[in-house]
Order: sequence, then structure tokens, then C-alpha cells
Amino acid sequence: MHEVLQRLDNVAKRVGRPRPRLLAVSKTQPAAAIAELAALGQRAFGENYVQEAAGKQALLAQPGLEWHLIGHLQSNKAREAATLFDWVQTVDRGKLVTALARYRPAGSPPLNVLIQVNIDDEASKHGCQPEDVPALAAAIAAEPRLVLRGLMAIPAPLPDPERRRDAFHRMKTLFDTLAAQHPQADTLSMGMSDDYELAIAEGATMVRVGTALFGARPRKPETT
Ligand SMILES: *Cc1c(COP(=O)(O)O)cnc(C)c1O
Repeated sequence: MHEVLQRLDNVAKRVGRPRPRLLAVSKTQPAAAIAELAALGQRAFGENYVQEAAGKQALLAQPGLEWHLIGHLQSNKAREAATLFDWVQTVDRGKLVTALARYRPAGSPPLNVLIQVNIDDEASKHGCQPEDVPALAAAIAAEPRLVLRGLMAIPAPLPDPERRRDAFHRMKTLFDTLAAQHPQADTLSMGMSDDYELAIAEGATMVRVGTALFGARPRKPETT
């Protein structure tokens, strides 16, 4: 983990930006692997499936960890997600905003949310269109049980790095516009093991790294 942090540091210095936060993507990894990184000081973990996260949280019972949902969220899982997670990075429709706000437990701090943008307009990907961001942002800002923290994207895995860079750049532009309207929006979540250097260069404030931290994933994730 320290190697990855060191690399983030080096890249950020090289491009003259602050080091982004590291989200450790622990999908398909056992709870013990999370405990290991937590012992080294890693705090934020990303999971793709509500059920899988619930299982690991029950095993870990580790205070102080910050859980991020980074997989697509079905409305019928919103209640559980609003209870289990500290952040939901995949809000892409109004119905989800309403459901998460309704189910966020009164005793918990407001849920941090990111709007997921389908920046390359891929049919296979979730996320709203860039032009939908202002209305969704306003809906989130109107909910006292939610805090709008920013934007998230998974650009198309294009082989040409310059085209990937362009997607990150368009996200940064969208993010700057959003943050001008919503000062509490301080997070631009983009970049994974393969492309975090480009994402940092274009202004990511959080990178989501799985493989480069944990090694190759042991199995395909269950669908829950
Ligand atoms: C799996 C996943 C990641 C991490 O991918 P790696 O290539 O293993 O770093 C990041 N973001 C999302 C949304 C993911 O599903």
C-alpha cells in the first residue's frame, strides 16, 4: 500500500496537483485483506455489491473505516445501502436520491453522495448524462440527509491514452462547474489501477484502486 501511496505522491508532484485520496477497492477480496490494509492506516474502502459489503462489515466490526459503494445501486437495495455505507458514489437518477434520503438512519451523519456520470455515453454503463448533473445536484442539495460531495466516472477503457485523458478532462470541467454552484462538492472520483496517472493529471481528487493494491482479483464478483 505504501508503494501505491508513494506513486500517487510522485505523480501528483510531477503534475503539480495535491495527492488524491486513495479508495482501496476491495470487491472480491476477503475481509482479512481489508483488515491488513486497515492496520497499515488505510481508511476508505470501496465495494461494488451491497450484500458483499454487509458480509465483510459484519466480519470486521472495525471502527473508523469509511465504506464507499462504487457499484450500480438498484432502488430496492437503497435502504440497505443507506444504512451500511458512508458514501454512495453511483447516484445517477432522482429516484435513488429520494430513496437514499428517506432511508438514511436518523442517528447517522448525512450520507455522502457522488453523482455518477456516463462520460463516454456508453450503452453498457450506468451514470447520468452530463447535462443531467445540475438537476440531480439540486435534488441532492435539497435533501438534509444527503451531502453532495461531487462526481464519479468510469471512462471507456479506450486503448488510446489521449482519448482517455479527454474523458477525464471533460469530467474536470463538469466538476468545476458543479463546485462553483455547490461549495461542499470537493470530490472528483476517477482513475483506477490502469489509468490513475492520467486521472490525477486531469484533476482527480480520489482514485479508486483495486488490482494495484491487492493484486489480481481472486474470482468474479457474485451478483447480488
Ligand atoms: C473494480 C473497480 C475499480 C478498481 O479497478 P482496478 O482496475 O482493480 O483498480 C474502480 N472503480 C470501480 C467502479 C470498480 O468497479
